[in-house]
Amino acid sequence: MRIVLLGAPGSGKGTQAKRLMAERNIPQISTGDMLRQAAAAGTNLGLRAKATIDAGNLVPDKVVLAIIAERLAHPDAEAGFILDGFPRTTQQALDLEDLLEEMHTPLDAAVLLDVDFDILLKRLTGRRTCSKTGKLLNIYFSPQEEIDECLEAGGELIQRDDDNEETISNRLDVYHQRTEPLIDFYRERGKLLFVDADGPIEDVFERLTEALA
Ligand code: AMP
Repeated sequence: MRIVLLGAPGSGKGTQAKRLMAERNIPQISTGDMLRQAAAAGTNLGLRAKATIDAGNLVPDKVVLAIIAERLAHPDAEAGFILDGFPRTTQQALDLEDLLEEMHTPLDAAVLLDVDFDILLKRLTGRRTCSKTGKLLNIYFSPQEEIDECLEAGGELIQRDDDNEETISNRLDVYHQRTEPLIDFYRERGKLLFVDADGPIEDVFERLTEALA
């Protein structure tokens, strides 16, 4: 299965991609995660990308395309992949189409995770990672026991540098202007699947697997 997960920041792409990866045994490929890892490792690419990420803007198309081309060439992507956070512009979608054509591995579907704007804001402003366990939590939505579990283990609730209100508002604008046109792009190609991504993670996952069946 080769799919793209489309959706605004906070729509749950990363969370659902991880679940799908565990169930289908195919890799989740997240350009955001790879860029953050490069930034944390202090590579040239990472350091250049960090200021852009922290401002909520998009890293140049050529940079992310190179990352994706390299990653898709890994043997574990032969069985399929879940692209999370790529493509984000029409140019990236066209580049991906060319790349997959060269590899003779066309995309099966682009799945839009659709979430109300108010919920997106709470998901983004409330998002935290436990410093001890790495678990993704949300101060508005996670059960109190899960938050206590982190704190009692001596963990702290860490907020992503680009999850502050100013950057969030820019990321949502950038999504609206640059990424939303991809909904029509994939609809025109007959690849678009729509999933209502409001509600508990489990329910969304069930709807996602039904859409992919
Ligand atoms: P994410 O974790 O997917 O929300 O991505 C975090 C940030 O990484 C984005 O706000 C962008 O700055 C950058 N980024 C991730 N994926 C892409 C992409 N496909 N194109 C351009 N920038 C990206």
